[in-house]
Amino acid sequence: MALIVQKYGGTSVADLERIRAVCDRVAATVAQGHRVVVVLSAMSGETDRLVALGQKLSARPSPREMDLLLSSGERITVALLAIALDAAGIRARALTGRQAGIYTDTAHTKARIERIETATLTRLLDEGGVPVVAGFQGIVEEGGDSRVSTLGRGGSDTTAVALAAALNADVCEIYTDVDGIYTADPRIVSDARKIQRISFDEILELANLGAKVLHVRSVELAKKFNVPVHVRSSFSEAEGSWVVQGDAAMEQVVVSGIAYSQKEARVTVRGIPDRPGIAAQLFGALATAGVAVDMIVQSVGAAGHASISFTIPETDVQQANDTVAGLKEEMAIAAIEVDPAIAKVSIVGLGMQSHTGVAAKMFETLRAEGINILMISTSEIRISCIIARDQMATAVRALHTAFGLAVAPALVGR
Ligand code: ADP
Ligand code: ASP
Ligand code: MG
Repeated sequence: MALIVQKYGGTSVADLERIRAVCDRVAATVAQGHRVVVVLSAMSGETDRLVALGQKLSARPSPREMDLLLSSGERITVALLAIALDAAGIRARALTGRQAGIYTDTAHTKARIERIETATLTRLLDEGGVPVVAGFQGIVEEGGDSRVSTLGRGGSDTTAVALAAALNADVCEIYTDVDGIYTADPRIVSDARKIQRISFDEILELANLGAKVLHVRSVELAKKFNVPVHVRSSFSEAEGSWVVQGDAAMEQVVVSGIAYSQKEARVTVRGIPDRPGIAAQLFGALATAGVAVDMIVQSVGAAGHASISFTIPETDVQQANDTVAGLKEEMAIAAIEVDPAIAKVSIVGLGMQSHTGVAAKMFETLRAEGINILMISTSEIRISCIIARDQMATAVRALHTAFGLAVAPALVGR
């Protein structure tokens, strides 16, 4: 008898028919003698709808009230599933994040889980019940005040892995609309291949670089607490992908996957006098304003003047623009340009550590497609390029082919 955390994403609970299918799967797992904790997302599209409602009323809606608004989508699905399970003769209890004992820090709309009080969940499990927990939400307590918080878009995965870690579950199953983790987003690359086993580090990079199949924080937690994660489809019985500790066999593959992100913008600050301290001043101000800067490129132009380009999440564009504009006179900035039409394409693989020529191959592949590289950044196990957004799909497909990802690696245990 195992303890299994099952998380179902938005498409898996999109309507009553899908919720009945989830009910059947939970019932089948219980019938096999397992103890089950269920974590749900809101119905697909619901969180977007709620965000849009808040934004219609205010250009800068209060993050605290947005969290209460956004958390309501998950309340609906957990209540509905508990009703369905109950009707099927399974003792279920729907729980909000607060009822499930999930406490977070105060960073509204992107809160991190700080602790989980498992007493209620453990009691329900001991009584033979199935807790059905609202994903993506927690509670923040500050100065006698207690408020609802949310974990950032896609955060239900994180709720599931955090519960699996806190309850010492045998496995955390992530049910979604694809049957596993692929070598690239199967929506973009038709011959993408399912990866049977992927290391925590590789999926962490892929998730960080935009592959939304798993929430970044969920992978961090899975790695930290060594939670076995199985990503699979709620539409089939097929075996999915397992996220595991890296092993030697995996390192034979140079590149394991391609990721992309279209959620960033590039800001270029031109004509700054090239003197010590300009980067410190610029990025210090951006950090104080809470703008998360990713890539940075500085180039020295004519007559002792420099240009600095950097990328930021598109949600921070307004804030970044205001901040840099505020420095214009003080830093003698000649011009500020914002380019929102960029994309980041990245290749990821543990094997890059021991292979040379990987970057050259990436750049040559993009050149052969006539794609101009605007910025480059690298780590031990990834290379990312910023390119024009309308060339993103072409780049991802070309890189997928160039690194042989459509073909199953022969000697590797995948
Ligand atoms: P859920 O609502 O179940 O959490 P998401 O939409 O958040 O589902 O995540 C699943 C989606 O992630 C897939 O439909 C797919 O388009 C996308 N995706 C991006 N990169 C990958 C990848 N490498 N492997 C699998 N899916 C990916
Ligand atoms: N419903 C939330 C979202 O759409 C959380 C999740 O689905 O994981 O971002
Ligand atoms: Mg998701």
